[in-house]
Amino acid sequence: MNTFPTIDASRCMKCGFCMSACPVYQVDHVESHVARGRNLLIRMAEAGTLPDAEAYGECLDNCLLCGRCQAVCPAKVPSPAINVQARHRRLAERGRSFWQQVLFRGILKHRSRMAHLMGLAARIPGVSHTNGRPLRHMADALSLFSGGMSVPRLSKPFLSARIDPVTPPPSGTPRKGRVAFFAGCGFEFFFAQAGADMVHALAMAGIEVITPDGLGCCGMAVHNAGDGQTARAMARSNIDILSAYDCVVTGCATCGSTLKQYGQWFADNALMHRKAQAVSAKVVDFSEFLVQQGLPATPHDASSPIKVTYHDPCHLKWHQGIGEFPRKVLHSLSSVEFVEMESADACCGLGGTFGVKHRETSLAIQAKKMAAIQKSGARIVATACPGCMIQLMDGARRFGLDVEVVHLGQLMAAGTAGAESAAHRHCPAAVGHNHRQAA
Ligand code: SF4
Ligand code: SF4
Repeated sequence: MNTFPTIDASRCMKCGFCMSACPVYQVDHVESHVARGRNLLIRMAEAGTLPDAEAYGECLDNCLLCGRCQAVCPAKVPSPAINVQARHRRLAERGRSFWQQVLFRGILKHRSRMAHLMGLAARIPGVSHTNGRPLRHMADALSLFSGGMSVPRLSKPFLSARIDPVTPPPSGTPRKGRVAFFAGCGFEFFFAQAGADMVHALAMAGIEVITPDGLGCCGMAVHNAGDGQTARAMARSNIDILSAYDCVVTGCATCGSTLKQYGQWFADNALMHRKAQAVSAKVVDFSEFLVQQGLPATPHDASSPIKVTYHDPCHLKWHQGIGEFPRKVLHSLSSVEFVEMESADACCGLGGTFGVKHRETSLAIQAKKMAAIQKSGARIVATACPGCMIQLMDGARRFGLDVEVVHLGQLMAAGTAGAESAAHRHCPAAVGHNHRQAA
């Protein structure tokens, strides 16, 4: 059942502005894969005049939901939300596939079950990255399941086992406040040290960081696949826990944009809508929060600064309108020479399962990003989303670039040690390291 307020695709004026901005259309030039063509097909589906139902599914699926079309649209048509709404209708009509049933309702909905499965996987030699000598070519073996994308190794231990439920500021640091930290699946299972670094950076800024027990997946992947019922069940559980806190900080751009959307997910239920809206209003991105608090001064680094560039995650730039705060964080680090890459706000090509299901298009988009990174001359690419980190790491490995991919929090936490050592010390899953281990 679709419970979202209906968003009207007829507002689209067919002007075609979105075609100049859509990363998918710029690669494949298929009109039904860009907002203008898709909005028309969605209207036809609503009117029951679609000629080909299967091709319609492909059209809905061939979108990164990056939000770029909405940003350039003169009529501000929310095309990504219109697409997601259409996916919800389609799934409601057709039902979940067997694999959606298993993945969404059987695994993603239950964090403890997911943690158990991930924990079992982490025992396989080479699948986790503090687990002794990795098997040769393990990354390549795992990539068989991801359409050729190299999947980062699992962290061992996971984030929740690395940090205490309450991390106070170090003694002597004036206490400024208290936040709940929403790690999300990416930092819990794959980039646990980056998650711990963010908690450390927040504590160093005088913040008491609570990592509440029982938080689960934000639900974005499930929601975007069209399963609103399961996504709302996942959201409810997170909302119940997060309602107890005044401020929720996350370093995952995808989780942040999802948590900020929770209010809209319960438009048909006044009580739940109010509760969800209240949580959404408390959510702040890691970089935004640190800038608002006043960035801590980093000691002067006598060594020459290292060139760092920044990739804007779509879920931060286009879905939350945040591009300035991450750059302010980077400018504040004395060990960093910030260099802007061309089209830093262009999508990396992952888009959740898009990167696996539409591998060829995804790789063509990734190739443009890799060229921009190479041209920047940066040694480190910082970003603010674990999904982008995976895609950038895969690209750097594929193109043989000598760059490390890190989260901003890793550079922030290691500001006192220098950016270069930070990348190597704190990011065992970073590209160069991955590449070396897999070789
Ligand atoms: S830019 Fe907006 S109004 Fe113009 S075709 Fe695209 S979605 Fe429609
Ligand atoms: S959300 Fe992104 S990929 Fe989808 S139509 Fe808009 S610009 Fe293209």
